[in-house]
Amino acid sequence: MNEKSKKLGSIMEQNRVKLHFFEPSQREVWTIVGKEKEHWIDPDSNFCSCAGFYFEMLKNKKPCYHINSVQIAKQEKKIDVIKFSDEEFDDFISSVLTDL
Ligand SMILES: [Zn+2]
Repeated sequence: MNEKSKKLGSIMEQNRVKLHFFEPSQREVWTIVGKEKEHWIDPDSNFCSCAGFYFEMLKNKKPCYHINSVQIAKQEKKIDVIKFSDEEFDDFISSVLTDL
């Protein structure tokens, strides 16, 4: 098993894929809890906030394993869904951003 599938496996096992679901707008914010910080993933535009993301894109033309993790979590429905109200959206986003 390579390094990437190991990392993917541990994310799946530990249910580290989180969907922050805002109502009533139904906005979705995906994060994965990493070793030190939380990464912000946008699966629709294939974006991840982690340090390895640009490197992988430049070097391998592939997104990092966090984006794969979100896709797999969706398929396997192994998602930790946390519901918020829309009023909390701004606070949530700024706390994610300061965490990056
Ligand atoms: Zn990433």
